[in-house]
Amino acid sequence: MRKPFIAGNWKMYKTAAQAVEFAEEFKKIYKASDVRVAIAAPFTQLWALKKAFEGTGIGVAAQNMHWEDQGAFTGEISAPMLKEIGVDYVIIGHSERREYFGETDETVNKKVLKALAEGILPILCCGESLAVREAGKEKEFVGGQIRADFAGVSAEDAKKVTVAYEPIWAIGTGKTATPDQAQEMCAYIRSVLEELYGDDISEEIAIQYGGSVKPANASELMSQDDIDGALVGGASLKPADFLEIVHF
Ligand code: PEP
Repeated sequence: MRKPFIAGNWKMYKTAAQAVEFAEEFKKIYKASDVRVAIAAPFTQLWALKKAFEGTGIGVAAQNMHWEDQGAFTGEISAPMLKEIGVDYVIIGHSERREYFGETDETVNKKVLKALAEGILPILCCGESLAVREAGKEKEFVGGQIRADFAGVSAEDAKKVTVAYEPIWAIGTGKTATPDQAQEMCAYIRSVLEELYGDDISEEIAIQYGGSVKPANASELMSQDDIDGALVGGASLKPADFLEIVHF
């Protein structure tokens, strides 16, 4: 049985003080359940957030990392640096990183391999643009991302990856994919993972849906067979909204 996994993605919002304020408020209302929960915060908040969530079971995620341990890569953060402060997860290949920061399936794949080698659990994002969907090529496109991004990942490691299916046209737009559209794509992603790793492994891999998830639509999305959780942007910024999604 796959455990539901809800992760918040704060993007470039909140200062460290505001992050701690969120954590303190959230801890007061949060009740641990069999839902895995994590918050992906900007680098400067990770240390404080890790401390604030200590003993709660709530994980902390980075939103990106470099694939090298160290080097002349100004502005970058490496996996050992994240590991040192106890970061549990890292979002890799978010569409905003692919669109604005030149991430490709090749760099995404390097990052996935590095995170796994360091014991940081990747949340690997994939998803098609509106143009790709209107051309009827969403499966071909997302299937290609999954094959490329999982290149060289062993079956044992593949189980540690969470895939976040995030159609770009639904991110931050208020336009959620319908539960049927989201389920169809998540089932398709699982079928590609089955081709790569076989039935048993593909059944163990968590697949999240992301794209304008909010309290009002979370439970219907989450009740779909192949949707095991959500990657939540805007609605993760307020403790009460995020809590409603976590307790879907
Ligand atoms: C995201 O940032 O991954 C996301 C899905 O954002 P939103 O929920 O705001 O659409």
